[in-house]
Amino acid sequence: MITHAILKELEGVVGIDNLLTSRANLVCYSYDAAGQSFMPDAVVLPANTGEVSEIVRLANKYRLPLIPRGAGSGFAGGSVPVKSGIVIHLSRLNKILEIDNENLIAVVEPCVVTGVFQDEVEKLGLFYPPDPASLKFSTMGGNASTGAGGPRAVKYGVTRDYILGLEVVTPTGEIINTGGKTVKRATGYDMTRLMVGSEGTLGIITKLIIRLIPLPEGKKTMTAFFRSAEDAARTVSDIIKSRIVPTTLELLDKNTLACVKENLGMDLPEETSAMLLIEIDGDPLILDRQAGKIRDACRKNGSIEFNVAGNKEEADTLWKARRGASPSMLKFWPGKISEDIVVPRNKIPGMIRRLDTISDKHNLTIASFGHAGDGNLHVNIRVDKKNAQEMKRAEEAIKDIFRATVELEGAISGEHGIGMSKAPYLKMQLSETEIGMMKAIKKALDPNNIMNPGKIFD
Ligand SMILES: Cc1cc2nc3c(=O)[nH]c(=O)nc-3n(C[C@H](O)[C@H](O)[C@H](O)COP(=O)(O)OP(=O)(O)OC[C@H]3O[C@@H](n4cnc5c(N)ncnc54)[C@H](O)[C@@H]3O)c2cc1C
Repeated sequence: MITHAILKELEGVVGIDNLLTSRANLVCYSYDAAGQSFMPDAVVLPANTGEVSEIVRLANKYRLPLIPRGAGSGFAGGSVPVKSGIVIHLSRLNKILEIDNENLIAVVEPCVVTGVFQDEVEKLGLFYPPDPASLKFSTMGGNASTGAGGPRAVKYGVTRDYILGLEVVTPTGEIINTGGKTVKRATGYDMTRLMVGSEGTLGIITKLIIRLIPLPEGKKTMTAFFRSAEDAARTVSDIIKSRIVPTTLELLDKNTLACVKENLGMDLPEETSAMLLIEIDGDPLILDRQAGKIRDACRKNGSIEFNVAGNKEEADTLWKARRGASPSMLKFWPGKISEDIVVPRNKIPGMIRRLDTISDKHNLTIASFGHAGDGNLHVNIRVDKKNAQEMKRAEEAIKDIFRATVELEGAISGEHGIGMSKAPYLKMQLSETEIGMMKAIKKALDPNNIMNPGKIFD
């Protein structure tokens, strides 16, 4: 439990204005996008790495849980203080420190908003591809800590593929630098990869060295509508088989489209049960040819309608349904349970069939949308959280979904992480030996278990 004396010591580090203790303030840091709420004892807002290190040392001295927080947009409860303690909000570490045009790298502080960073590098003709749908508010540090992905992952990979190095405050308060500004590095264990995706359990990221690439010259956006999700899923496989790697290949199923249609008043072709949003980028000279091949793949699988945007405004219109999917579903299914599974992309049709069977078996409405091009589906179960029987059926359905995912050689999280929401299911994915190795790493780096306890394993 935090005492007045400890609060005074924290105040000595960050100053009175950057220590929050009132209930009204604390409640704002008690939840993330996963929706569960646990109150912290205090929130600190450090100004620099030195202050972060001092806070970590204090937390160790008093054995207090320390929970790093970016924008709090995580879907797995990662930044929620499930065992109370001190939330360390990194919002004041929000500067782009360097954009190096010659070496194609940038150095940023952790609370730079991803979309802001992308806009800045694009002004210089450079490109940072990872694009979580939350990019307008989520942070580079949060993205690194969760291993965030996004629609462009199908071609460009995810956040971890763009991190060359990190400055980290370890769970015992030392400041270390992993990786560096070189593209190659073969000097012992890859500590950068260990930190990425560690969800704030192995240290606090205070600086990131980011790899950039040249901005593609051209882009083409398309949509196709189908009579069934399976037709759309088969099209995804056919596009990839035709040796085109789209930037984006997103799938929306019937129930998702119904929410979007009602919320945004969109007109959809009659009989539509699934939509694909497809984007390609690169040399403008080859884009038309690739778009032709994509149209052929859509037609072969019985597409009802196929559209190609002629300019940016038309592209924005084609994106409307995909961008509106999550908010529309939240509006009509406020208590929905969202899962984030990933399977090898040629198993998407099989996964869709399994989801239909699970929906029938448990008498639940399920809607799926997401990054079909990389096999990552956001599976949403409609529930009334006050209905205990329905919640019990949903729990069983989640287990069936994860079982099917693992059987199809997939993973129970593609990009949101395990946090606290998926911790009970980790054993469905990893063996005892694998979990044991992860726990041994955690114990070696964080002997007092102060960094974000209650996450991943509990
Ligand atoms: C509408 C919406 C759309 C979304 N779309 C996507 C999507 O397309 N792809 C995707 O991957 N995710 C998506 N997300 C989930 C979420 O935005 C990502 O998980 C994101 O990476 C979280 O960033 P954050 O800054 O909000 O981090 P937080 O939620 O604050 O924290 C996430 C985790 O990282 C840890 N952490 C944060 N900062 C640090 C740090 N500096 N050092 C150490 N640990 C830290 C926290 O302790 C926590 O465990 C979406 C969320 C919403 C609400």
